[in-house]
Amino acid sequence: MPSKPKLGQNFLRDHNAIRRIADALGDIAEQTVVEIGPGQGAITRILAERARHLIAIELDRELAPALRTQFPPDRVTVIEQDVLSFDFSAAASSAGQKLAVVGNLPYYITSPILLKLAASCAALDRAVLMVQREVADRITAGPGSRDYGLLSVTVQMYGPVASLFTLPPGAFSPPPEVHSSVFRWRFAPRFAELGVEEQPFLRFVRHSFAQKRKTIANNLRGAQYDSEAIHAALEAAQLPAQARAEELSIPELAALHIRLDRHPQSEGPAPQNEASPSV
Ligand code: SAM
Repeated sequence: MPSKPKLGQNFLRDHNAIRRIADALGDIAEQTVVEIGPGQGAITRILAERARHLIAIELDRELAPALRTQFPPDRVTVIEQDVLSFDFSAAASSAGQKLAVVGNLPYYITSPILLKLAASCAALDRAVLMVQREVADRITAGPGSRDYGLLSVTVQMYGPVASLFTLPPGAFSPPPEVHSSVFRWRFAPRFAELGVEEQPFLRFVRHSFAQKRKTIANNLRGAQYDSEAIHAALEAAQLPAQARAEELSIPELAALHIRLDRHPQSEGPAPQNEASPSV
């Protein structure tokens, strides 16, 4: 069956990498695992041997039935569906436990999948995901690094991430044009611990990172925050007036948000990036 580039089909051929991805999930003998995009079953096989049960979600209408013939239904449930409409909460309820997620993701919808997992975090325990290397670098970056930004903060607000390993294009068939990296994400949302509400804080983070070269003060002014309040909040947090969001840790961003929340934004046009929650 020829691969379908539109569905991001680059099938993993490196057996060592397949084992390392499965190992990165830890002990799954008592765990229900969800695989995103099982494709021809490269990772599915080892997961089916190790997991209590595997739910494999595949959009391709030819690959999904082929997978059903490969694996016994008591070990692997193949669901032919768009993962973006999969109900992780219902699956966790049926399993009676939080789910582990694994996937060599279709890169054309990496961000929507990450946002979907974040939105489903109450149903999830951990995920081991393969994404384009540059995206993994941004996801796992810390403050002050070239790659740290909106994506890093958004993902890390839902739990700690760890970069695991990188694969060259030749590990796949057909080879993609980019390197790929695997990272692990343990779901443990930080909103309550930091004293912020989810959506208002994420909106604040989007405003803070709106334009890369601008200071956080300028970005927030552009989002109609009160100038004096921004100045006072930076000073109270002992941050320089010229600080950029890319230099601030997640607790520092949360502290600024909490202080600025007491000063409602002045009326004005919606900021440019308000409409798109895309990371
Ligand atoms: N897991 C296999 C492997 O590692 O060889 C295939 C990985 S391939 C990069 C991505 C897979 O995701 C493909 O099988 C593709 O058909 C599937 N896919 C693409 N879009 C999807 C979607 N919206 N929902 C579920 N699966 C999708």
